[in-house]
Amino acid sequence: MDLLEYQGKQFFASYGIPVSAGEATGTVDEAVAIADRVGYPVVVKAQVHTGGRGKAGGVKLAENADECRTHAANILGLDIKGHIVNTIWIENASDIAEEYYASFTLDRSAKQHLGMLSAEGGVEIESVAESNPEAIAKIHIDPVVGLTPDACRAWVEAANLNPAATEGAVDILTKLYTAYVEGDADLVEINPLILKPTGEVHALDAKVSLDGNATFEHPDYEQYDATQPRDEREEAAHAKGLQYVGLDGSVGVIANGAGLAMSTVDVVNQVGGSPANFLDIGGGANADVMAGALEVINNDTAVKSIFINIFGGITRGEEVANGIIEAMKRVSISSPIVIRLDGTNANEGRAILEPHLNEQLMMESTMLDAARRAVALAATGDAN
Ligand code: GDP
Ligand code: MN
Repeated sequence: MDLLEYQGKQFFASYGIPVSAGEATGTVDEAVAIADRVGYPVVVKAQVHTGGRGKAGGVKLAENADECRTHAANILGLDIKGHIVNTIWIENASDIAEEYYASFTLDRSAKQHLGMLSAEGGVEIESVAESNPEAIAKIHIDPVVGLTPDACRAWVEAANLNPAATEGAVDILTKLYTAYVEGDADLVEINPLILKPTGEVHALDAKVSLDGNATFEHPDYEQYDATQPRDEREEAAHAKGLQYVGLDGSVGVIANGAGLAMSTVDVVNQVGGSPANFLDIGGGANADVMAGALEVINNDTAVKSIFINIFGGITRGEEVANGIIEAMKRVSISSPIVIRLDGTNANEGRAILEPHLNEQLMMESTMLDAARRAVALAATGDAN
């Protein structure tokens, strides 16, 4: 569950991390009223589930009510990387002496938590990691031991922040680690973490991703459901009981079993295509399940070809073949389909499909050939 900046700041504040006073709204008039309350100058900030808002014109400083009104009106409705701004956050503006970066996340391969701190904040950390990796101080934290005061201080010193920021940074990072662990977060990030000319350290931005599997321990996390970004395709698929994840390519993918579905997504990428989705129809490839899967994929206007990749196990090839033929009678499909059918009774299944093959329904004997054909068809579809 990804939080919006203002939700992340409220989450931080509940652990004692200093953030600016502010309020969220969806209207221009309210924005001005909030600005009057928090005091000028204010920053008007777009609340969307993506970074780089500053560069996209979604973060603006306002000295007075007129400027606040103009910025609020411009930012509401703005499209930032495909996210339309419905909510803005108005906060009292801070004076900035320096901008830092701080985060905690899980390092799965190290089986430890990873803290990252850099004196080069404000910019995207990926570009710092690329151009100047030694500017990022890293700390691995054993989850059983936690972040000890000594380790935290040594880490802050290694990051070469302004010495005036040391105490404030140690304090905030200690609280940030507690928020990360107790709040069951997958990621907490402050970019920029600022040093003010007056010497205080302060969180100016918040990126928080909470573990959706831990919500039962945090009843208050229910409030975040309403602001989660929705993928209509995923909602339709989940309503049909399908394991579906929306992606942004043009080859629709249907496979049986999560492992095969992931391999199918990989092989589409491997041959130069881009999958439109991950879809695991599970063990039973009967007509109902297949029709549901085809319907979801057919409704995705980005799909230009469909790759059905089935490996018969307990489900026999002829059941799969009959399921596909029956499903195609029920759903009128707009993209060409390429089938790869293997496993138990594959020959019997292929024999059933054979008489139905045409420009709309094709079959290949290997996964790689089927992927190549589906990708080639998607490319022709894109050109049209
Ligand atoms: P992002 O672009 O989505 O990461 O949004 P941020 O919240 O990080 O804001 C982008 C940039 O706007 C920051 O790096 C700051 O340079 C600037 N900014 C944000 N809030 C303030 C503020 O209160 N005062 C000043 N002077 N600049 C701010
Ligand atoms: Mn930021």
